[in-house]
Amino acid sequence: MAKILVIGEISDGKLNSATAKVVAAAKQIGGEIVVALLGSDVGAAATEAATLDGVTKVLKVETAANKDILAATYAPQIVELASGYSHVLFPGTAFGKDTAPRVSAKLGVQQVSDIMVAHSPTSFDRPTYAGNAIVTVEAPASPAIVATVRLASFTAVGAGGSAAIESASTSAALPTHTRFVSLEAQKSERPDLQAARKVVSGGRALGSSDAFKIIYSLADKMGAAVGASRAAVDSGYVPNDLQVGQTGKIIAPELYIAAGISGAIQHLAGIKDARTIVAINKDAEAPIFEIADYGLVADLFTAVPELEGKL
Ligand code: FAD
Repeated sequence: MAKILVIGEISDGKLNSATAKVVAAAKQIGGEIVVALLGSDVGAAATEAATLDGVTKVLKVETAANKDILAATYAPQIVELASGYSHVLFPGTAFGKDTAPRVSAKLGVQQVSDIMVAHSPTSFDRPTYAGNAIVTVEAPASPAIVATVRLASFTAVGAGGSAAIESASTSAALPTHTRFVSLEAQKSERPDLQAARKVVSGGRALGSSDAFKIIYSLADKMGAAVGASRAAVDSGYVPNDLQVGQTGKIIAPELYIAAGISGAIQHLAGIKDARTIVAINKDAEAPIFEIADYGLVADLFTAVPELEGKL
């Protein structure tokens, strides 16, 4: 039977909602599911993780060194924790994508990235060519399978479990070459882009960070997260953690509104799982209209404020 170690993610002391999606992937693989949480005080997150449906145990790995999330510090500890497990699963977030490769390298295995479906404990679907093709891969079971989970492909498990919570420690030698200096994060009251049910995104057409305010304004009226195309990010209109797409975030909201975004394949790779796509573009030939459920051929500088006014 598979024994699966899910590496939980903690944001601001709370369990990041990505963890419940990774547990859903673990359930699809089938087997015993243990969630490991690293930090200096993970009590609240552990209590939450213990309620996730399907989790049999939660391991708290609390040390002062784990206070700040550093892949270089976490990886050797996870490698030690992974002993005896058949799978080590990470969320497909910046945290998971940063840490998983170090763990696979130390274990000497090839990482399976972006699991979309688990057909068996060793056979997985994953996207390739910017999500334009799906490949089924067979991963060697030994010594362990290290994988990241494509969050847009899984629905978070609900609460209902009551797993045991245990403290764990490792004797892993921590690196001295990497140290935490500071964290500069955007503080926002808006929903998290990767977890949001509604997202309003703007593209190059906005023209400036000042003009981008109409996207924020519509999003706030709708209680939506804000996203952007890479062109909008590269032009400096918005910070890069808002980028949606192949090299940005892969999202699966119920509603995605794309304003002034052409619909390049690299952008579409990030929104393939969105339930309803609305496109506002002044060019009726823009490729985004090929995948949009609702299309509005209009100037966004008129249409977006008008839409907001009607809400
Ligand atoms: P444009 O393609 O310039 O489109 C702007 C659109 O706005 C046009 O369709 C235009 O008709 C419309 N428009 C202009 N004015 C108005 C107006 N007033 N009202 C309404 N509509 C208007 N891109 C991503 O988004 N995410 C990624 O993760 C990503 N990763 C990439 C990775 C690689 C390896 C490469 C090579 C590219 C990647 N790109 C990514 C870039 C991608 O190819 C496109 O260049 C980018 O998505 C274009 O952004 P855009 O649609 O905002 O800009």
